Order: sequence, then structure tokens, then C-alpha cells
Amino acid sequence: MVHPYREPTLIIGKSRISAKDRLTRPVLDPATGETIAMLPIATTDDIRAAAETAARAYEHWRSTTSHQRQSILRAAAAALRSRREDLAWTITTEQGKPLAEARGEVDASAETLEWFADEARRAYGRIIPSRIPGNRQLVEIEPVGPVAAFAPWNFPLINSIRKIAPALAAGCSIVIKPAEETPGATLIAVECLLEAGLPEDVVSVLFGNPAEISEGLIRSAQIRKISFTGSVPVGQSLAALAATHGKRSTMELGGHAPVIVLDDVDAPKVAALASAGKFRNAGQVCNGATRFYVQRGVYDAFLTTFADAAKAVVVGDGRKDGVQMGPLANDRRLTAMERFTTDARRRGGGVIGGARLGDAGNFFQPTIFHDLDPQADAYRVEPFGPLALVAPFDEEEEALRRANDINVGLSSFVFTDSAKRQRRMIDGLQTGLVGVNTFTVSFPETPFGGIKDSGHGHEGGSEGLEPYLVRKFVHVA
Ligand code: NAD
Repeated sequence: MVHPYREPTLIIGKSRISAKDRLTRPVLDPATGETIAMLPIATTDDIRAAAETAARAYEHWRSTTSHQRQSILRAAAAALRSRREDLAWTITTEQGKPLAEARGEVDASAETLEWFADEARRAYGRIIPSRIPGNRQLVEIEPVGPVAAFAPWNFPLINSIRKIAPALAAGCSIVIKPAEETPGATLIAVECLLEAGLPEDVVSVLFGNPAEISEGLIRSAQIRKISFTGSVPVGQSLAALAATHGKRSTMELGGHAPVIVLDDVDAPKVAALASAGKFRNAGQVCNGATRFYVQRGVYDAFLTTFADAAKAVVVGDGRKDGVQMGPLANDRRLTAMERFTTDARRRGGGVIGGARLGDAGNFFQPTIFHDLDPQADAYRVEPFGPLALVAPFDEEEEALRRANDINVGLSSFVFTDSAKRQRRMIDGLQTGLVGVNTFTVSFPETPFGGIKDSGHGHEGGSEGLEPYLVRKFVHVA
């Protein structure tokens, strides 16, 4: 069934600003290259109005109780579930992932709203025994203030929800700029929040020139907290700007996850799992597996099964039944995959796949580079696409050294049945997330965040609420 696609608007408090009122840019269907809609571009006045709206909203939203906020967020989760098909269709049409994956994203987003709804109820202050008889020493928690958030296009709904849910749960108002390529899911989510009883001015949504919006909001006196998910260079420049203006930031930046496969495992079984993990969302996953280091004894068995599984992935329009991998979300990713492949071939590495599929849409083959020069571009730059690197190693130390020899540290994975080897690997891997015999390292109730250039702060878990709270010490004489 085809769902209607609604024209995107800017949301600033009660106003809805459509494409007919502003300069525009097109929203494209990555499976066909066709224009789906025109997106209005925020003006400087819109950015200022959104920050002022957030400041006004903060004054009343901060004084709601955590019980009231819980009930609105829980009702919004129910509204999201009731619009699951509409949301999934919108995600797939704008971003390309298969509908089944888009439905999973809606479910996880609803659970994230529920997690933060309830977590706000568990955000406690404390009483510190007073050193002066009769006095009281209290630590109270308060929301940090109006938030500016920037979410990317790879998970159009949950990337936004992981910022909106903790901000609202803590009592903050928020201005969010989802990626211009994928506006629809966040706009539907805001409708769900309003249906659930959220006052109209608490969430505003802007689209336009990303640098203009982020600079305008970070510089504005009203905004107190920044949250960004995206690439390392952009994140670092926004973190620097936030620091200049004395504002806290949470940065979820890229990764380039190593996977260490040790020689005691059932290699074909791990390779089949690797294919499902790697090609999910066409590899456009910040914590997705990219660099596979496989111990020599199981290397051939792993590579053969992995290659067969990659060739068997059904690539096509994510709205069609049976499709396992959709197009890349935008043509920048397609160009990047072609560049990585040219570089790998030039360096004499083995290339399985490595070609664009068809003339329309951003389709690219599930691709494996093996036995490639470690100086190749794909080893240094996060591929962020359906591209896996596979290399053999002999000793555990060598695998750890290669795994850690990179500027980023978001996630890593290790496959071994030996408890001792698991422990050595967990201790040695320099990442914020480690999956042992699994590629899943993200749940609503668990902290998600990287180290090194992968950013700072967490989303998810009780750690995910913390960036939106401040502490107030009160001494009562
Ligand atoms: P990009 O760096 O231009 O943009 C990444 C995201 O940041 C987009 O959503 C974009 O709208 C936003 N953005 C860009 N400049 C901004 C600015 N000045 N202020 C605020 N937001 C801004 O790159 P891209 O071509 O969209 O993606 C390329 C790379 O970004 C990928 O290769 C990957 O490394 C990284 N990325 C990471 C994630 C993640 O989940 N951490 C998601 C998407 C992209």
C-alpha cells in the first residue's frame, strides 16, 4: 500500500512555514532520483524566531512535573506505533532502507520515547549530611535549558528521537534540524507529540543551510545545549563553536569499527552474521562493522562464506517485497563508494562487487575488499556504505594493534568462544562500545557513545538523560 507523502514544513511554535513561502531545495527519492517534495529553507529570522520560541516554551515546560512529561512521552510513543506504516513508508521513500528495517526503526523510536519518559521519573537529587547542626544541604536537578539539536539522514526517525526524547523528559525545550534529505519522519513524530498533549511551542523544526542554522542557534543567547550526530569534521567544528560560547555539547560522530574474528569460532556462521550486520541500512551505520581482521586459520572459510553471502543480498527499491538492501541515501555516498573502489583496485587489493547497479537511483553492490594495503583510503576514512574490508592476521596482539590504529573509537566487535580471549580483547579494544559474538550494541536502555574522535557524551541509557540536566546545590541555614 502506498502512503501519502505530506509536504514538509518548518515548525516554529504554532507556525507552519511551507515551500511556497521560502526559497526551497528538493527532497529526492534515492531509489529513483525523482523529486518527492520541495523543502522550505529557513531564513535568519526563522532561526531567531525558533530560538526565541524555545526560550519562551522553556519557562512553562520546565515547571511541569516528571509525571506529566512521562504521560505525554508515553502517549507519543503510542501515537508513533499507531502510525508505524506511514512512518516506515516515509523513511524508506526518503532514505532508501527496506521497509522491514524502517519498521524496526519506528519500534525502537517508540521504545526510546518510553525509556526516557520513565527515566525522567528516576532522575533524583540527593541530600548531603550537613556539617552545621540544623542546616540542610540539598543537590537538586534542573533541566539545562533550551536545546539545539542536529540529526543526520541515516536513521531519520531515531536520530531525532534520541535527542527530542531526553530533552523533553528532562524539561528542556528543543529546536531540531533533521537532515534536509530526510525531513518527513521527524515532522510526523512532532505531530505525534502534539497529539499526545505536548504544548505547541516546545519543539521547533528547521531545515535549510546546515551551517547557517547551526551557527545561528549555537551563537544565540537563548540556546544552552547542543547535540549533534554526524561526521567528525562537522562535529568538531560545532563543538568548538559551542565551547567558544560556553555551551555544553554532546557529539555522536563517526566510527570505523573493527571486527576481530579469532580462530576458535565457526567461521561460516560468523560470516553469515557479518553479512547481515554489514549490509543493514546499506552500511550507513555509524557503529556498523567495517574492518574485519580474521585469524589465519579460519580466514579462507570466513572470506568464502562472506563473499557468497554478499553476492546473495537482494538489492532494490526498499518498498518492494523481498528486498534486503536499498539504495544509498544520497549520491555523495555513491561517489564515495566509487572512489574507494578505484583506490583499492589501483593498489592491487581483491575487490568483490564494487560497481554501481543500474542508471537510476543510488544503488551499489554489496562490496568486499580483501588483502588490501592498510594505507588504502577505505582503511583511513569511514566507508559509511556497503563496503567491508577483510584482512588476515596471525597473533592477537597484531589484530588489536591494527584495530586500534585509527583516530575514531565508537564500536568494535570480537568473535571468540574463549572467555580468556574475550577478556583480553574487551580490555584491549579502544572504543566506547564492544560487541562480543554479536553485532548489536545499541538499545534504548544502554549508553551509546564513542571515544577518541568519535565524540563525547552518550545517547541512550540513564547516561542519555544526564547531558540535559544541571545540578543546583542548595544550603538551607
Ligand atoms: P556531512 O558531514 O556534510 O553531514 C553529516 C550530517 O551533518 C548531515 O546530516 C548534515 O545535514 C549535517 N551537517 C553538515 N554540516 C553541518 C553544519 N555545519 N551544521 C549542522 N549540521 C551539519 O556529510 P554527509 O555527506 O551527509 O555524510 C558523510 C559522512 O558523515 C559519512 O561518511 C559519515 O562519516 C558521517 N555521518 C555520520 C553519521 C552518524 O550517525 N554518526 C550519520 C550520517 C553521516
